[in-house]
Amino acid sequence: ETLMDVNVESDRICVCVRKRPLNKKEMAKKDIDVVTIPGKGMLLFHEPKQKVDLTKYLENQVFHFDYSFDDDATNELVYRFSARPLVKTIFEGGMATCFAYGQTGSGKTHTMGGDFSGKNQNSSKGVYALAAQDVFTLLKHKRYSDLDLCTYVTFFEIYNGKVFDLLNKKAPLRVLEDEKQQVQVVGLKEVEVSSVDNVIKLIEKGSACRTSGQTFANAQSSRSHAVLQVILRRHKCLHGKFSLVDLAGNERGTDVSNNDRQTLVETAEINRSLLALKIAMISPGMSSCEYTLNTLRYAYRYG
Ligand code: ADP
Ligand code: MG
Repeated sequence: ETLMDVNVESDRICVCVRKRPLNKKEMAKKDIDVVTIPGKGMLLFHEPKQKVDLTKYLENQVFHFDYSFDDDATNELVYRFSARPLVKTIFEGGMATCFAYGQTGSGKTHTMGGDFSGKNQNSSKGVYALAAQDVFTLLKHKRYSDLDLCTYVTFFEIYNGKVFDLLNKKAPLRVLEDEKQQVQVVGLKEVEVSSVDNVIKLIEKGSACRTSGQTFANAQSSRSHAVLQVILRRHKCLHGKFSLVDLAGNERGTDVSNNDRQTLVETAEINRSLLALKIAMISPGMSSCEYTLNTLRYAYRYG
């Protein structure tokens, strides 16, 4: 289908789940895959020792989503069925949001930002860049090309209820509610972009800013939300906005080994801000099954 063919049901939230492959570490410790994707939108969570019999599984072990992606799915496929339909929404003057939700290590950043694990960072295949690609395609579409739309990007982190600008040396920013009850991040840097390459550079700059320069950088990034916004403006006025959110890990306070006061405060803060959300990314391993079930029940119940 083309970008223009998609129909977005604007009053509905679409919930997808993506299973990542078992990683080397999990395989080395002989972790067992307890997640099966038996069909479209379905996910089967099974007991480790139980042989998977697809005809006899218990009702409460099956979860239904709009889409479920197996561990061989590419970012492009996940993007196509989740975030992609929302690009049209912002061209039609709407606001759209896409959240990646799940345990730390389940693949949120891999899905949203691309791969930052190795030396050769590759953000060109993340949902951020794929969405930007489609934005630049639609800018040229005859339905929108006469609108004089300009595209801007913001990228910021929310840590412990505070906002930091990832495109401006992590500058701390104040959040205010204006007279229309719109939340405004004061002084947030909006960078005008005119190509996917522009956007990729900003993603890489911001992501580097997110994870470096701190002793416990990764621990911190797992406890912060990162938000990339693609903003369309028409003669400087807001036309549409797409917020792509790489959420903090959803592991619970009691499960965190280092559950000192600060961590508990952070966890409470993260969970408070997550109450209204549902989206999901999961690890396949048995060693993560408590987290996985928690994520699935959460996404399933509220979806
Ligand atoms: P999170 O952001 O949820 O904490 P990451 O996205 O950082 O998790 O993923 C953890 C690790 O697993 C990374 O090294 C990442 O490259 C890898 N990974 C995640 N999802 C996949 C996938 N679908 N295929 C291959 N590797 C993946
Ligand atoms: Mg991450």
